[in-house]
Amino acid sequence: MVTSPADFIARSCICCASAQLDKSGAVLMPFVAKRVFDHDPVEVTADWGLRDLRAGMAYTLCNSLQCQACGVLFLDYRFTDAQMAALYAGYRDEAYTRQRDHYEPGYAAVAEHYHGRESYIADVERWLKRHVPARPAVLDWGGGSGLNTPFRGQHALLHVHDISAVELAEGAESIGPEQLVRGHYDLVTCCQVLEHVPSPRALIEQILPAMDRDTLLYVEVPHEALMREHPGSLTLARAKKHWHEHINFFTHQALHRLLENAGLTVLDSHLLPVDLGWRKAEVMGVLARLA
Ligand SMILES: [Zn+2]
Repeated sequence: MVTSPADFIARSCICCASAQLDKSGAVLMPFVAKRVFDHDPVEVTADWGLRDLRAGMAYTLCNSLQCQACGVLFLDYRFTDAQMAALYAGYRDEAYTRQRDHYEPGYAAVAEHYHGRESYIADVERWLKRHVPARPAVLDWGGGSGLNTPFRGQHALLHVHDISAVELAEGAESIGPEQLVRGHYDLVTCCQVLEHVPSPRALIEQILPAMDRDTLLYVEVPHEALMREHPGSLTLARAKKHWHEHINFFTHQALHRLLENAGLTVLDSHLLPVDLGWRKAEVMGVLARLA
């Protein structure tokens, strides 16, 4: 039984449904805990008068889970729709940035880098080009403003579906799930989204109605440093002591299983080193179509 959106705590793998999970205690970082649960860190002091507690800071507790079958490493909490909406309201706008900078001094300076199109998108387009027709009709699922949508500016059509309700970049048009038309799109992209969501499987299933036999789906997630540094390791739960907005750390195998279990065939995949200006990273991309 794959973890469903109704499960507040994951009971099985979010990608392959295996119940073999390794578990280790961790904390949810205060910004996320504040937005999702309205929790603030508290200091337990002697004047609480609690005999069985040691004095010190208390943070929102959680578990790190790692699937022993496909290797995906993830937070045990699976946020509800309302919690997700609270976490991502006004994503990276002024109020969001101010609040996050309060919990994470220095965030505002880093956030400056998010306002331009990432240079690695050109590399993604180069990789996709051999599969995708010229001037494609594109649907970007979870694409925020559409700023980083592949082929923006070279598109015949660009629809963006996103929960954050941010202002859209030039050329992008916002649509809701009820407006999806099957067969409308050459390419559906879902980039830098699955690492944020409580049920990657449910998200892929939401996308499927927009696809027909000729539609390609490009899914891209970060190849997180912890996963890069320990390829094939199944003992990463104990190494992951804190969780932030990326609540799922994927392996190639996990991503493939996720797509295949949703009825898709993986056509191609890549690892791409990216220079974000303020740090070096790597992304993992998979191209699939209906099986
Ligand atoms: Zn798994």
